[in-house]
Amino acid sequence: MNLILLGPPGAGKGTQAQILEKNHGVVQLSTGDMLRAAIASGSALGEKVKEIMARGDLVPDELMVDLISQRISEPDCANGFILDGFPRTVPQAEALDEMLNERGLRIDLVVEVKVDEAALFDRIAGRANEAAAGARADDTEEVLRKRLDVYHRQTAPILPYYRKGGRLKQVDGMQDIDTVSTQIESLLDEVRTVH
Ligand code: AMP
Repeated sequence: MNLILLGPPGAGKGTQAQILEKNHGVVQLSTGDMLRAAIASGSALGEKVKEIMARGDLVPDELMVDLISQRISEPDCANGFILDGFPRTVPQAEALDEMLNERGLRIDLVVEVKVDEAALFDRIAGRANEAAAGARADDTEEVLRKRLDVYHRQTAPILPYYRKGGRLKQVDGMQDIDTVSTQIESLLDEVRTVH
């Protein structure tokens, strides 16, 4: 089972991906975490993406597609994976389908985690205040606004792409973590029954 969690920054995709990872033995692939690890290690990739991320902009498609293409070839992805933060543009979504096709794989389900953005804003701004010392460089209010804007302009256009293919389902991400998780589980059950 390969799935994608889509939704604006702070919607809870990472939390849900971790729950799915624990319950199903599939791997969480968070491109944001991968990029932050690259920055922390001081690699060439990290150097390239550091400022882009701090501004809240998107890293170029080519770099992201290479990163994911290599990652899904690793053995731990054979049982399935959850993409959290990828794809973020239509070209990334198309490249993903192409690379999976070549490997005889597919995305079984795309879950859009829908949220009330005003409430979301408070949630993330709160996260920034709480974690003052260890806060993510892109967790300031200004950068958050930018990231939401980037989501609407560049990432939301992916939704019709997956809707057309009949793979898109939605959950209300404003509910508590367990309820959202239960709803994602039912969507997975539906997909399993169809296959
Ligand atoms: P995230 O942790 O998913 O919110 O990602 C943090 C930042 O990493 C984003 O604001 C982008 O700068 C960068 N990033 C993560 N995934 C992607 C992607 N698929 N395409 C472009 N940039 C990305």
